[in-house]
Amino acid sequence: MRTLIASLSLVMMSVACAGQENNPKESEEMKPKMEKSDQEWKEKLSPDEYYILREAGTERPFTGKYNLHFEEGNYRCAACDAVLFDSDSKFESHCGWPSFDNVADNDAIIEREDRSFGMVRTEVICANCGGHLGHLFDDGPTESGMRYCINSVALDFEAKKEGEEKSEEVDKDESEASN
Ligand SMILES: [Zn+2]
Repeated sequence: MRTLIASLSLVMMSVACAGQENNPKESEEMKPKMEKSDQEWKEKLSPDEYYILREAGTERPFTGKYNLHFEEGNYRCAACDAVLFDSDSKFESHCGWPSFDNVADNDAIIEREDRSFGMVRTEVICANCGGHLGHLFDDGPTESGMRYCINSVALDFEAKKEGEEKSEEVDKDESEASN
């Protein structure tokens, strides 16, 4: 009996050791470029931004400032300013969050599996700073079939500048864009 226990604990020990050694993080290449401590992020971000971007929170549906926002321009990461989405890819999804059918640049975001809340979802994070943006679903209504469901809090909108050389004030009456 004693030998059984001894060999059992030996097996367990070696399993534990093996577990420690053979566990290289395989997704190391997918690491965000920017590294800041939680304290640094707390100082930089508002409490809402920190909750969404750093703690993977979700804003309440239909409350975000960009949910029904359809101006032309870029959507940047609220934490690090990286361009994430273009207004051309934004569509009304009726889900309560800003939705996009594509990213501005494939390198702009990182997708990873999220098994929280008993669901298997694809989490979308900013490739530059690692901030949580939202989730990606494959039930989009457009050609791409993608629906990037993103928190408004995680985004900053930058309106498209038309004709940089024109120094006239922005006029209220919107003439048709000269595309
Ligand atoms: Zn970012």
